[in-house]
Amino acid sequence: MGDTRGFLKIARQGGQYREVCERVRDYKDVARMRPDAQTQEQASRCMDCGTPFCHSGCPIGNYIPEWNDLVYRGKWEAALALLDATNCLPEVTGRVCPALCEYACVLALNDDAVTIRENELAVVEYGFKHGLMKPAVIKERTGKRVAVIGSGPAGLACAAQLNRAGHAVTVFERDEKPGGILRYGIPDFKLEKHLLDRRIDIWKKEGVVFRTGVNAGGDYAAGKLLSEFDAVCLAGGSRVPRDIAVPGRDLKGVAFAMDYLTQSNRRSAGETIPKGELIDAKGKKVVVIGGGDTGSDCVGTAHRQGAGCVVQIEVMPRPDEGRTEAYPWPRYPLLLKTTSSHEEGGERHWAVLTKGFIGEKGRVTKLSCVRVQFVHEHGKRFPAMKEMPGSEFEIGADLVIVAVGFLNPEHAGLLADLHVAFDERGNVKTDEKFMTSVSKVFSAGDMRRGQSLVVWAIAEGRRCARSIDMFLMGESNLPAM
Ligand SMILES: Cc1cc2nc3c(=O)[nH]c(=O)nc-3n(C[C@H](O)[C@H](O)[C@H](O)COP(=O)(O)OP(=O)(O)OC[C@H]3O[C@@H](n4cnc5c(N)ncnc54)[C@H](O)[C@@H]3O)c2cc1C
Ligand code: SF4
Repeated sequence: MGDTRGFLKIARQGGQYREVCERVRDYKDVARMRPDAQTQEQASRCMDCGTPFCHSGCPIGNYIPEWNDLVYRGKWEAALALLDATNCLPEVTGRVCPALCEYACVLALNDDAVTIRENELAVVEYGFKHGLMKPAVIKERTGKRVAVIGSGPAGLACAAQLNRAGHAVTVFERDEKPGGILRYGIPDFKLEKHLLDRRIDIWKKEGVVFRTGVNAGGDYAAGKLLSEFDAVCLAGGSRVPRDIAVPGRDLKGVAFAMDYLTQSNRRSAGETIPKGELIDAKGKKVVVIGGGDTGSDCVGTAHRQGAGCVVQIEVMPRPDEGRTEAYPWPRYPLLLKTTSSHEEGGERHWAVLTKGFIGEKGRVTKLSCVRVQFVHEHGKRFPAMKEMPGSEFEIGADLVIVAVGFLNPEHAGLLADLHVAFDERGNVKTDEKFMTSVSKVFSAGDMRRGQSLVVWAIAEGRRCARSIDMFLMGESNLPAM
């Protein structure tokens, strides 16, 4: 531990953002990188406590106290080596992770948590800036071939680890560019795409082969995959969107969040969307249904497109702002989250149920809504949602974005052709070693656990890689985390 009194002397200095009036005019990162000296100061707040709960809070088991100490001492290269030992994409988690670790930080019991996520980002960006991020030389090849389906964080992490273990890895991706939701879901203002290209270039140089624009199961038949590869990892994500089946849903101007965000990301990358398909918020009254992170990304995107006004509604009640008894430390609490996109404007309303869409000439013009409350009933585990009589109201809307989550992976195509079994939620079922019901076929990420977080996708990809390595070689030097 560097400075034994660091946390007493230094206050938390969280993420710093560009001014709203400036950042809403572009899609560049909303955050500013802080100077290294300030990161060292912030790292000195880490107490190196006897039991570092942050470590268990982080799904990939980052060595947080250890690299905080190294950063404080200016040993950036050593900190980078430790970070690289557990995290394949720290430049991504350092930007978009909800920092589960910080909720478990012991300092957060009676003070502000250490800025773990920003410190993580500073370490990896130091590495890129100083030319330390080089392709690893793979000394020995095993002669085994592995196909990874999907190039989101789960597939990328799995491929990178298996390649380092010496296997010949081919990543199949149906989109034109790799990245999954990192590229086509999360907006540039949270994650600029050149950051993905920078990392993928390293993996290409290490030997990972990317076959983009290839739909596994369609362009590349399931049988061919099984016969040409020694193992297959299914990391295709969970993309079937949850819908709201209410009258008027088929009106024009009601779109799914992922369709809206994908278009916006493509436009940021210089692509042109055909006019008839374009979903654009310019000058429109926009209503985003869904109060989660995806909804927040839609709010930020709508502002950048020049929306007239943006309203976000959520059916659940407004979360608490601080921990309650239901979420004692170090559990990850469900708290009110105000993102950088929320700070840029718009209204938020909770406990609002959408009853229907009303339109004129086939286009949506308003939503019909009602306020709800959640009532605890005797003998019932969860509170029941009740509409509040007389609370019906309408919201004007020219564009409605449905951001209410995802159901499960697409079953038709590859999964059906492979005959893999599903769990009760419709996700791909695996044993504890990530193997599906079909021998030599594994699965990781959202496709296996349902829509989750980038850090969980990385964790799954890495653990699945170790299981595949064990399956192929009978032993593995890949880390268990
Ligand atoms: C809009 C949005 C914003 C989010 N923001 C955050 C955030 O800020 N922080 C966070 O931690 N999490 C966030 N998440 C969640 C996070 O992005 C996902 O949990 C994560 O990307 C899952 O990774 P994955 O690799 O399992 O799947 P995905 O990222 O979905 O990637 C799956 C890939 O597989 C490809 N694929 C599927 N089937 C085939 C096939 N048959 N052949 C070839 N390729 C195929 C798909 O094209 C896709 O590229 C967000 C999610 C969304 C939707
Ligand atoms: S990956 Fe997420 S949970 Fe883990 S240390 Fe980084 S910010 Fe914390």
